Amino acid sequence: MAGKIIDGKQIAGQMRAELKAEVAKLKRQGVVPGLGVILVGDDPASKSYVTAKERACEEMGIYSDDNRLPADTSQEHLIGLIGRLNTDPKINSILVQLPLPKHLSESEVLLAINPDKDVDGFHPMNVGKMVTGEKAFLPCTPNGVVQLLLRSGIKIEGSYVVIVGRSNIVGKPLANMLIQKSPSGNATVPVCHTRTKDLARHTKQADIIIAAAGHPNTITADMVKDGAVVIDVGVNRVEDSTKKAGYRLVGDVDFERVKEKASLITPVPGGVGPMTITMLLYNTVESAKRAAGIVAG
Ligand code: NAP
Repeated sequence: MAGKIIDGKQIAGQMRAELKAEVAKLKRQGVVPGLGVILVGDDPASKSYVTAKERACEEMGIYSDDNRLPADTSQEHLIGLIGRLNTDPKINSILVQLPLPKHLSESEVLLAINPDKDVDGFHPMNVGKMVTGEKAFLPCTPNGVVQLLLRSGIKIEGSYVVIVGRSNIVGKPLANMLIQKSPSGNATVPVCHTRTKDLARHTKQADIIIAAAGHPNTITADMVKDGAVVIDVGVNRVEDSTKKAGYRLVGDVDFERVKEKASLITPVPGGVGPMTITMLLYNTVESAKRAAGIVAG
């Protein structure tokens, strides 16, 4: 059986069209959602992520306050800027692009962000609320995965979902979201990592496999049961002399072979990636609605 492709671009496009209409409606009520973006240093990948996020804001009609700081920016200066954005009424959400240069403390920086403007959902206050099932800003990539599943008509409830990867930004929050007592949760979720014995034993039982390991071919066809849904979060560069850049992007899944066994599968690029920025826009609009008292916080 050849699996059907889950088109992340198309689903993200649909969500963005809905958000754009919502932003236009908010504008008529005098509310303009605003995102404060901070990029420290000139890492090319981070620069291109930030540019894509700002472009997406512009397309949506979301105001963005772009702050690009030199690589030698001090912790004090960065915290000061976050403090300014925390109290700026035009800003509903703050995004500090990670990773930060080595001399800066990421945990201290994330703690400095007002939890009500924590669009990435990385502040311990939002992490705690997510774990206990309270309303919180949900981290963008895991939430994007959940939306992809829901909008593709995949039943999460009652499913056996195996996550490969236990990072704070993907695996752990995703596991927490999928076990919540709600229709977008109610799954049974083992989380695998490099110390997991016999990874294939776990993945072979999965109705849904979510790969977030950061290595090509972590999931091969022999590790997947017939008809499983396979979501590939991984983004890896592999050398490719036929490409102008000298590399191409692949996920963690052996896509060509696994798609013959899966019922549904996400490609890389064009799967989870487009959802991440979309969920950032979603959180910014949600934050603006909370600040304006349109929805409860
Ligand atoms: P990370 O912090 O490096 O974590 C990787 C996790 O995978 C770790 O828990 C690691 O286990 C586990 N792992 C690695 N190799 C494994 C293997 N062979 N078997 C089982 N577990 C294995 O990575 P991350 O930040 O979560 O990102 C994961 C991938 O997703 C990366 O490719 C990243 O680029 C991509 N990503 C994509 C998006 C997007 O928007 N599309 C967003 C975020 C991340 P240990 O804990 O034991 O080391």
